[in-house]
Amino acid sequence: MPKYFYRKMLTEKYAYDTLTKIHVLVAKLRIVILGPPGSGKGTYASRLTNILGIPHISTGDMVREEIRAQTEIGRKIREYSDRGELVPDEIIIGLLIERLKKPDAQKGFILDGFPRTIGQAEALEEITSIDVVINLNVPDEIIIQRLSNRLTCRRCGAIYNRLTLKPKVDEICDICGGELYQREDDKPEVISERLKVYRRSTEPLIDYYRKRGLLKDVYCNDLMTPPDVIVNEILKIIRGQK
Ligand SMILES: [Zn+2]
Repeated sequence: MPKYFYRKMLTEKYAYDTLTKIHVLVAKLRIVILGPPGSGKGTYASRLTNILGIPHISTGDMVREEIRAQTEIGRKIREYSDRGELVPDEIIIGLLIERLKKPDAQKGFILDGFPRTIGQAEALEEITSIDVVINLNVPDEIIIQRLSNRLTCRRCGAIYNRLTLKPKVDEICDICGGELYQREDDKPEVISERLKVYRRSTEPLIDYYRKRGLLKDVYCNDLMTPPDVIVNEILKIIRGQK
């Protein structure tokens, strides 16, 4: 092979490698995950975090952490919730801006619990781009089945399920021996109400992201589907195979 061609080939290969490397370096994965309460969102998000190496940012957890740590913002949030009012968007967005600046979020993130309204989605657009929105579709019957069988440990907060994750001894926590109980908001009547509220507020949001071509639907129609099956579905979408 003439030297020239060989060199050209090498240069092209080098250019190709550099390009793909750059592509890997600049490719961010900014994911929003939408799904009703009891859709398994938290479980999937934490598995995806381990696989993709990007943080799971749950605005609910962030708010609880501020309250727990009794920060100034935490105290303000407390005041709103004591008055039975919603925490204003500015507070959540402020927390989110700070969180997204942290080094671990520079390669991307999985955002959970935010946005919930179009107003919030517009605010989010001001602070970051989103690459994909995963919309978990789970029929109400399955959610009610899952949540109404959920048991929580009174002592350590561990979560069990009468159908899918039974404790070794009935009504007793495997980890700490505490008593298991059903949370007030896991009762079927309360669940139906929570689902109604969720559907009413997020339906417009789903349209909003669908119109922008960012929405990808994932379906879970069986309570017994192992979480990894859904996680693999989501990974295929993220990797552009679906
Ligand atoms: Zn326990």
